[in-house]
Amino acid sequence: AGRLAGKTALISGGASGLGEAQATLFASEGASVLVGDIQEEKGAQVVAAIEKEGGKAAFVRLDVTETQSWDNAVTEALSRFGKLTTLVNNAGIFHPGGIVDETSEGWNRMIAINQTGVFLGMKAAAAALQETGNASIVNISSLFGLIGSPSAISYHASKAAVRVMGKAAALEFAKKGVRVNTIFPGQIRTPILGDITPEQDKAIKAMIPMGDAGDPIDIAYGSLYFASDEAKYVSGAELWIDGAWYA
Ligand code: NAD
Repeated sequence: AGRLAGKTALISGGASGLGEAQATLFASEGASVLVGDIQEEKGAQVVAAIEKEGGKAAFVRLDVTETQSWDNAVTEALSRFGKLTTLVNNAGIFHPGGIVDETSEGWNRMIAINQTGVFLGMKAAAAALQETGNASIVNISSLFGLIGSPSAISYHASKAAVRVMGKAAALEFAKKGVRVNTIFPGQIRTPILGDITPEQDKAIKAMIPMGDAGDPIDIAYGSLYFASDEAKYVSGAELWIDGAWYA
């Protein structure tokens, strides 16, 4: 039983932060979960923790920038679980840098992982998801795909692209049994920010109307809804989970 009973989910970036929270919650709701990540050791730990709780999970090494790697992950999902019902494009990186400071290498890396990685994931999984029917894709964008800031030009560009790609994909797949929805996290406590100083932490909190950062589980609950059949009529939707930041 569970809200995702019978579902099989491939979650990119599932070894850490928001991906780990989604993998863990999805498994606890009855999904079989394939954790895809470049971090093999951490991915294996997430799988072990899920299995310890009686859930079904496996790890696959996935680099979202590589077509071959995606094809391998989808094949792995099909051979382990027999079908693929759910793709969560969650993997992503962040580094700061405005137009003056960002290098072209930094820009290319950001776009390759955060933007092209989502395209390649939807492309690799499309046939398997359509074959299953009653399937869905959840893309993780960012509040920074909706609003600007002075010093993260490549991140903004990559996450804004994910937003519109989700709309386009929802329309492309509307009659093909695949829903596509997008989540926009505000500031959530995960390793992605690296080490921030107490002053930076204070400044971030001051920007958030609800006064604090969120927890990974706050994002996972939104993703769970989109992935479940409760959202069977929901596609092309956008959910901000951000402590009223975007309000
Ligand atoms: P995180 O760093 O904890 O996790 C990101 C995961 O992605 C890591 O496990 C990392 O190994 C993996 N990854 C990186 N490059 C990869 C690649 N090429 N192929 C496969 N996996 C790769 O960060 P997080 O906060 O959990 O971020 C998850 C997603 O949420 C990202 O897309 C991020 O941009 C987005 N997001 C996070 C926040 C936040 O405040 N934490 C806010 C908005 C959006």
